[in-house]
Amino acid sequence: MASGLHAIALFAAAFVGCAASTRPRENPDAFRAAAVALGGRAAARGCALDAGELADRTIAEWSARSSEAWAPDWACLAIQDNLSRDSMGSCTPPPADVFGRPLSFARRIAGELFYVGLDPREYTYDLVPHDDLVEIEVRVQFLGPLAQDPARIATLQDKMHRAADLWTRYSPGGRFFFRFIAETTDAALPHFQVHLDAGSTRTPFDVTWGEEWSWHLLAHEIGHMMGLDDEYGQLRKTLGHAIGEDKRWDVDPVDKVRWFQCDSTSLMCDSKGEASTPLRYHYYLLLRRRFCRVTPPDRDVVAP
Ligand SMILES: [Zn+2]
Repeated sequence: MASGLHAIALFAAAFVGCAASTRPRENPDAFRAAAVALGGRAAARGCALDAGELADRTIAEWSARSSEAWAPDWACLAIQDNLSRDSMGSCTPPPADVFGRPLSFARRIAGELFYVGLDPREYTYDLVPHDDLVEIEVRVQFLGPLAQDPARIATLQDKMHRAADLWTRYSPGGRFFFRFIAETTDAALPHFQVHLDAGSTRTPFDVTWGEEWSWHLLAHEIGHMMGLDDEYGQLRKTLGHAIGEDKRWDVDPVDKVRWFQCDSTSLMCDSKGEASTPLRYHYYLLLRRRFCRVTPPDRDVVAP
């Protein structure tokens, strides 16, 4: 999500610099092996189609093929984009190891992702072993006058539990469970400190939360905190809102694909409603980091 100013900055940056895609290109064989193992459709030199071509084909064949037929292509693009923007992006261990190898000690993961290829922000969360299971925990401390009200925090915590349950329910093999905790002090070493605002404020996920955000939107925003990018075209979506096209999106799925250019069954593509879910590659992207060394961020993808 982005504030108006934030969106304008993204627009401006898009014209003077472009999002580089370097990480998967550093080791295309490792990227392709991981993408294919995750169900992605990857060609010899990356994904076969870019988002625009894929949206066009999805729309052109909408009546003949289900939109799920294109899921492997959308997955390839999402994996490629996420890796290319991640300070741990050059690390693509085999998915079988990521999902199957026991975790021997707890680890706090921290890194940086260039959200939508332009906006560097930190991600951080804990991985904690529990026998054969792995817990993924995100603690968020709320700041401001509203955060002093225990009833508000309790309501927020309920929604965070529902968001965590969604992440747990779709986890590969049922070996991973998620805990998202609302904190009101820094005693528990929170991963994030955000201001709690009234209503449904729209700001970056690591600055302000709106107390009326739905549990499903929280699942999407906490996905960002765990270092997953938006999969829709940020500029196209912002433009669509600006010209009122968004009124059609709820009633016309073809129009939505045309503007979003991503797989609307994915939680990181479509945060509205309650239908989208985390997908297998999301778990790979965040769980693989336990095998990764921190690498320097791609400063050169930021516009000068
Ligand atoms: Zn988002």
